[in-house]
Amino acid sequence: MRPLIGVTPSVAKDKSRYTLHGAHGEAIERAGGIPIMIPYVSEAIVQQLAQKIDGLYLTGGYDIDPHYFNEEPEIGLGRVDPLRDLFEIKLLQEMLMYKKPVFGVCRGSQIINVALGGTMYQDLEEQKKDVFIQHKQKRQLVYGSHYIKISQDSLLYKMIQSERIKVNSNHHQANKQLGSGLQIAATSKDGVIEAIEGKNHPFLLGVQWHPERLLQQDDTASYALYTHFIKAVIQQKETK
Ligand code: MN
Repeated sequence: MRPLIGVTPSVAKDKSRYTLHGAHGEAIERAGGIPIMIPYVSEAIVQQLAQKIDGLYLTGGYDIDPHYFNEEPEIGLGRVDPLRDLFEIKLLQEMLMYKKPVFGVCRGSQIINVALGGTMYQDLEEQKKDVFIQHKQKRQLVYGSHYIKISQDSLLYKMIQSERIKVNSNHHQANKQLGSGLQIAATSKDGVIEAIEGKNHPFLLGVQWHPERLLQQDDTASYALYTHFIKAVIQQKETK
């Protein structure tokens, strides 16, 4: 039986429906999991939800409410969805308690950091003066645009087996100070944190780019991320 991977969606602007890019489910399925989209359920059943799913996959979306890292909303902050923030933080904490694998992309990497007490740049352009790379790329997301440098002592390096890869980029926020138990796995040339990972966890990875879109062009590094994630989920399931 393939492992069950909970996938968190975004919400449409009019709040009437959830939205999820098809590439996420395709990537999870291709790597050997069963993707299942989960709506933002109430706190009362989050714990039971965490027991049901084998792994958690956090997708991209709106900005994160700076209240979670004790800041006021600054000028460059975009749209936020407090309900999603709260739901994902609670679910993430439960998953981490059970030592179940978690993989976050884009906003997903930021919510991992914030849930563990980290801080963020609410808007890179406004708050990080030495940024010179176009982190909101103008080309289509199926194409990589900027390079990242991967730390050799990271889990990410073990998966990708390369110190330098080209990634796509569609973010105006980024992680700043890391939350407890996290380490930097990759950065861009202008010092933006592009990947984070848990130091004492079987699989806790957040990447600032969109591997699901690069995988649509059969990108090998992206494929490695998803297959290692699913492999970790299966391993963790077997040790229970
Ligand atoms: Mn970037």
